[in-house]
Amino acid sequence: MPIATMGVPRIGPRRELKSALESYWAGRTGAADLLATARLLRAENWRRQQALGITHIPSNDFSLYDQVLDTSVMVGAVPALYGWTGGPVPLETYFAMARGSQGRSGGGCAPAAGEGLPAQEMTKWFDTNYHFMVPEFEPGQRFQLASTKPVDEFLEAKELGIQTRPVLIGPVTYLLLGKSKDADLKPLSLLDGLLPVYAEVLRRLEAAGAGWVQIDEPCLALDLDDGARHALHRAYAALSAAAPGLELLVASYFGPLGDNLETALALPVAGLHLDLVRGAADLERALERLPDRLALSLGVIDGRNVWRADLPAILDRIGPVAERLRPERLLLAPSCSLLHVPVDSEGETGLDDELRGWLAFAVQKMAELATLGRALTEGREAVADALDAAARTVASRRTSPRIHDAAVAARLAAVTPEMARRLPYAERRPLQAARLGLPLFPTTTIGSFPQTDAVRKARAAHIKGTLSDQDYLAFLRRETEAAIRWQEAVDIDVLVHGEFERNDMVQYFGEQLAGYAFTRNGWVQSYGSRCVRPPVIFGDVSRPAPMTVDWAGYAQSLTDRPVKGMLTGPVTMLQWSFVRDDLPRATVCRQIALALRDEVVDLERAGIRAVQIDEPAIREGLPLRRADWAAYLAWAVECFRLSASGVRPETQIHTHMCYSEFNDIIEAIGAMDADVISIETSRSKMELLDAFTGYRYPNEIGPGVYDIHSPRVPCVEEMVALLVKARERLKPDQIWVNPDCGLKTRRWEEVKPALAAMVAAAKALRAIP
Ligand code: GLN
Ligand code: ZN
Repeated sequence: MPIATMGVPRIGPRRELKSALESYWAGRTGAADLLATARLLRAENWRRQQALGITHIPSNDFSLYDQVLDTSVMVGAVPALYGWTGGPVPLETYFAMARGSQGRSGGGCAPAAGEGLPAQEMTKWFDTNYHFMVPEFEPGQRFQLASTKPVDEFLEAKELGIQTRPVLIGPVTYLLLGKSKDADLKPLSLLDGLLPVYAEVLRRLEAAGAGWVQIDEPCLALDLDDGARHALHRAYAALSAAAPGLELLVASYFGPLGDNLETALALPVAGLHLDLVRGAADLERALERLPDRLALSLGVIDGRNVWRADLPAILDRIGPVAERLRPERLLLAPSCSLLHVPVDSEGETGLDDELRGWLAFAVQKMAELATLGRALTEGREAVADALDAAARTVASRRTSPRIHDAAVAARLAAVTPEMARRLPYAERRPLQAARLGLPLFPTTTIGSFPQTDAVRKARAAHIKGTLSDQDYLAFLRRETEAAIRWQEAVDIDVLVHGEFERNDMVQYFGEQLAGYAFTRNGWVQSYGSRCVRPPVIFGDVSRPAPMTVDWAGYAQSLTDRPVKGMLTGPVTMLQWSFVRDDLPRATVCRQIALALRDEVVDLERAGIRAVQIDEPAIREGLPLRRADWAAYLAWAVECFRLSASGVRPETQIHTHMCYSEFNDIIEAIGAMDADVISIETSRSKMELLDAFTGYRYPNEIGPGVYDIHSPRVPCVEEMVALLVKARERLKPDQIWVNPDCGLKTRRWEEVKPALAAMVAAAKALRAIP
């Protein structure tokens, strides 16, 4: 029984790639060291998969930074500004596209001479938390083979005696993910120019001895128009003709094929991969009209979540399929690449045995696939122990008292629509104005202040036990007090406590909520060398005790100015976690919303006059298909409102979102009915505000005037210019003045002059009639 993984985590079990990259970027090691580490990681991955019984072992799933960037480099889609003129793309060019390159920093208002190159735009890969580098196409875009990475890595494995299945991102998905500054350039119009490069890669793979080649076309899980469907047809007609000796497997994942099923089945390829976790209904329909030539890859193990699978139940589903199809027409696989789960749950010694036993990371998922494969070929008896263990694990999780909390269920059942409603904004507004007494264009920040070395060291020492609770607390209090005093001195109107006590905006809350667990080493690549450790929501969520009230209360006790309470919203708490799969996501989100609601009420009770509930992840939770948007937005908005609406009308609720495009969700943003929303707008030169203007957004808005991603300190004039633009689009009394996002990644040396300039800009604006 052929068994595939579709792709595996590449960062390394101990994040070796991260260390190698960061030391190379810092100039501590050379390219040879980096490439050697990469080679070792690939070999280790191939060998591990071989040992675990995987037969279709992927190659070219590895990347030094990102597989979409690799594809751009492969096809020579390197924008002119990176100065590449042909031949193999140098490593420096590759990383300049990935991260930008440093120039001499200019500072001040004049654009700096010799400023570095900007990185390519980055955005989320479908509905995952993985970010890819957006391909950028130029007018007259030509493609050429500029990297033979897929062939090189295939041969590298072959030398180790391992036959692999190279993975490519399909040409149609690749083009659809791309963009051009020229609005008239439709990426799909570039297909004819692109296909010869893909054809050449396939011919070389064929010559190198490849058999199966996996071509990922996750665009098949999106709404496609006829143009895109036609492009898929043309592409695969051309590619299968180019290398007739190869067996091409087209992979769709992250959702059902739905109305794209016919298109997928008609592609002239040897195999089709289906995501049967998210697209279970595709299976029956695909079997009904499966052409004889087509092999099916059944994506039955969840590549997006961390729970052990119910293997007997899966066998019940796919056993009959295996009987119907000849064995060579069937493959077993995870639903998608295992890139999106951590490497190995065995090392999670910080979790108790029961909880750890519920988890399956990449290594465990491979073993599950191998078990399924043996059950199908040798019969269930051959793997009876493994199947029993899986069934027991699933049953123990389903019935465990640790995941069901009757009080949470009762509370959820008692939720009424009124609980998500406040007095209308028009009536809240004067009450808040009277209570807060703020000037026109009030200034504030988004929450975090620099996480300096001192802060990080103190936290690490506290975790290690070398800094006592008491000393750590005293240290954090000093940091907080200094931040309050400093904000008063520069004359910011609504203060924040600085978030010095927080490691991460989700982890900090998750650690205090029941139903959440944390891993030691459950790293998942987010982009490049950046990894996140998503917490695991395993049970009903509740708040045993207040979480932030002490910090907010302490900060407020130091000043007469309002201090904003600072919370992470329910949708973001959900979106950035691995979520239990035995309840609808909406239900889990409501549980979190109720826990946060209590916190908001407690903050109010402690004398806090404004509470910010951050929801930067609302947009990325949007389903892949438009037809599913309304349902998602309805519960996402309801959850936010549920968390925000327990307080009196005179308490001001803020929310914050960044990296968002608002046009297509502006009504939902309006329906959230936050009193104030702060958004990231400085890089878009306030263009993002057009969505709010067109919609006549009635509440208050803080359009970011300061790009916190750059170390550059903005000057007063440029922030005034941005605010003047904002004033053209909004009513003056709607506008707040704030940075784009939190300042935790910046240094005080940058933050202090930047915020002083921001306050000066607000004052200047008050003086301009
Ligand atoms: N309050 C958070 C901070 O300032 C918000 C972070 C975010 O939007 N991602 O860091
Ligand atoms: Zn932000």
